[in-house]
Amino acid sequence: MKCSRCKSLAQVALPSHHAGFCPDCFNLFFSRQVERAIRHFRMFTHKDKVLVALSGGKDSLALFRELHMQGYDVTGLHIDLSIPNSSSHSRAVVEQFCEGLGAPLRVVNMADEGLPISEVKRKINRPVCSVCGKVKRYYFNKVALDEGFTALCTGHNLDDEVGRLFSNTLRWDVSYLSDQSPALPAEGGFAPKYRPLYRLSEFETAAYCFLNGIEHSTAICPYSAGASFPVRKELLNTLEENSPGSKLQFYEGFLKTAKPLFEAAEERDGYAVSPCTGCGYPTSAGLCNICRMKEQVAAED
Ligand code: SF4
Ligand code: ZN
Repeated sequence: MKCSRCKSLAQVALPSHHAGFCPDCFNLFFSRQVERAIRHFRMFTHKDKVLVALSGGKDSLALFRELHMQGYDVTGLHIDLSIPNSSSHSRAVVEQFCEGLGAPLRVVNMADEGLPISEVKRKINRPVCSVCGKVKRYYFNKVALDEGFTALCTGHNLDDEVGRLFSNTLRWDVSYLSDQSPALPAEGGFAPKYRPLYRLSEFETAAYCFLNGIEHSTAICPYSAGASFPVRKELLNTLEENSPGSKLQFYEGFLKTAKPLFEAAEERDGYAVSPCTGCGYPTSAGLCNICRMKEQVAAED
């Protein structure tokens, strides 16, 4: 197969774009997809201070490298979750990666914050992944606001977005459906959040990492069993194989056609948020989830 752009030997086949690329042209394709996402949603400019959440996985590292290469003012943020046998490895990967790139990195350690996830799991009687997700989102937002960042980015890719949309649709969860977007503006104590990889699939970010020698973390979280939805993922992959481009079409169709309807419905039923009495984070209760969790974790057994 020949590269669709320069006609040399193609190394990456992209059926959803009816194209195949050599490594250089693939990088150009990848950059253009990111640029297109940033431009379409007016995410940020070269004047913004951009904070990028870095888990150590391939998506976040690919995003960080790409924004750095495009000349954006990026700083990495790693949350060390204090999970045995995985957090120290992910942290080392992120530290090494940022050092290699010569880019700034902030690390927040959950053990120092009184919320090591291993303890949270032991003491809080809720599914650990949902609690862990809340903790991460809280600190992403807190660091962004406290340290004057004007944009907060995460490495969610097209597969993440479509998977989430599919789950929300199966439940007809109007609240989540009204809120799902690659760009959420700053409002009510929340930093503006962006997902510049939303047009790129998991395969495409993996290819980008491989072609650019990005070494990502391979540590598997010991609490991850049951965290994914293999059947749904399989279903969506089968759909994509049989009809290349379906995932992007489904997601873009949602953003254009269905999301405004869900937003209108949600506005009618909206609920009020106010600052947490403990930390100032937006919440619908007096004390936010994270402050309550800290109290529970600190309590004697
Ligand atoms: Fe957190 Fe669950 Fe991911 Fe482990 S698998 S890092 S507990 S969200
Ligand atoms: Zn709080």
